[in-house]
Amino acid sequence: MSVITRFAPSPTGYLHLGHAYSALFAEQAAARSGGQFLLRIEDIDRGRCRAEFEDAIYEDLAWLGLEWETPVRRQSDHFEDYARALGELSASGLTYPCFCTRKEIETEIDAAGGAPHGPDGPVYPGTCKHLSEEEREDRVGAGEAHAVRLDMDAAVLRTGPLTWHDAAAGEVTAAPDRFGDIVLARKDTPTSYHLSVTLDDHIQGVTLVTRGTDLFAATDVHRVLQTLLDLDVPRYHHHSLLTGADGKRFAKREKSLTIRELRAAGKTTGDVLGLMESYADV
Ligand code: GLU
Repeated sequence: MSVITRFAPSPTGYLHLGHAYSALFAEQAAARSGGQFLLRIEDIDRGRCRAEFEDAIYEDLAWLGLEWETPVRRQSDHFEDYARALGELSASGLTYPCFCTRKEIETEIDAAGGAPHGPDGPVYPGTCKHLSEEEREDRVGAGEAHAVRLDMDAAVLRTGPLTWHDAAAGEVTAAPDRFGDIVLARKDTPTSYHLSVTLDDHIQGVTLVTRGTDLFAATDVHRVLQTLLDLDVPRYHHHSLLTGADGKRFAKREKSLTIRELRAAGKTTGDVLGLMESYADV
């Protein structure tokens, strides 16, 4: 069956070998099935994303020999789509405004003697979940900065048990509650990774989501959002992450293994593909 896959980098730095691997993984899965390979620029974080990095993404991927369908979906062009989805979730009573600062959350967690650690970090202690409707309205009305959180208990009650399919792991039982009340819209950006990625995969018709195992747990949250928003459910293939000789995964801050640096050092596309394979744990 032909599949539609995508590569969805954030232009917050230059692509490194790990990204190249992920992009090729997606492209090859599409090519093997006679399907389509899409590219999406995940640039909701306006403070960290730079046009220069976006340009470099196109250039580096083309240099690696990749071809993708056009137009490319750039998330910052679609804030109204995320706002609409958020509005739907809020209208069904599953969200609440959160006025807490990072510091206040830390203080609250310390005072409570700690918090369970979820896949995205310490679970939000629920401070703003307990505010009265009146206080919420007053503070939002007064223009106080706030994030919007998903009431995970209510959401999970609504969806019931969920599963999803991973090509490597098989049928996975979702356990989204371990994330707690995730942020759907941030104070500085009117959406979040979880909301925009889930909606975009549906809007772009992606049928096979390929990405690193670092995002394996996040799929549990995406399944919840798919169910609440009545979105199509893709299949998944989480691939292992490339690691360097020290066993640590590549990160954008390690300049030496960016495609850019390797090119500047005179490496050919073939050299880079070979290097990538030598790091792949296959
Ligand atoms: N934008 C995410 C990243 O660069 C990937 C999102 C995804 O594949 O779901 O890590």
